[in-house]
Amino acid sequence: MIDLRDLYQEVILDHNRNPRNYHDMIDATTKAVGNNPLCGDQLTLFLKIAEGSIQDASFVGRGCAISTASASLMTDSVKGRTVAEAEKMFQQFHDMLTTSGSACQMDKLSVLSGVKEFPVRVKCATLAWHTLQAALHHVQTPVTTEVEEDVGIKT
Ligand code: ZN
Repeated sequence: MIDLRDLYQEVILDHNRNPRNYHDMIDATTKAVGNNPLCGDQLTLFLKIAEGSIQDASFVGRGCAISTASASLMTDSVKGRTVAEAEKMFQQFHDMLTTSGSACQMDKLSVLSGVKEFPVRVKCATLAWHTLQAALHHVQTPVTTEVEEDVGIKT
């Protein structure tokens, strides 16, 4: 059994206290809004995309430590990547939290793999990534975690 305290590793606490890329972006080329009503997490994600690459990523909002740390880690990770690479990372991150797949290829994002043991927290961790998907695909309606079905709850 993993204790809930094990989830809040130093990396997560650090990103929650000092979120990276936490600011508005005036020259964003796309943005999206994400809501996780189960926990009250809200975020607005900004991306600056040029020539198929994510040149800048930032977010604002409020939420629990997991959602803030996840958004901080996510924006850090996708900056400088191509859109295709970001899509692949979304898939890997999603798989890491919903299947028993290996977390090692996600390097620093793997600090969030512990949430897999806490299905309610999975939505907090994936919110930023679903919002990323919405921004990449120019979805205008706010993303809500309520529509996600496969949260990987083992029976
Ligand atoms: Zn949350």
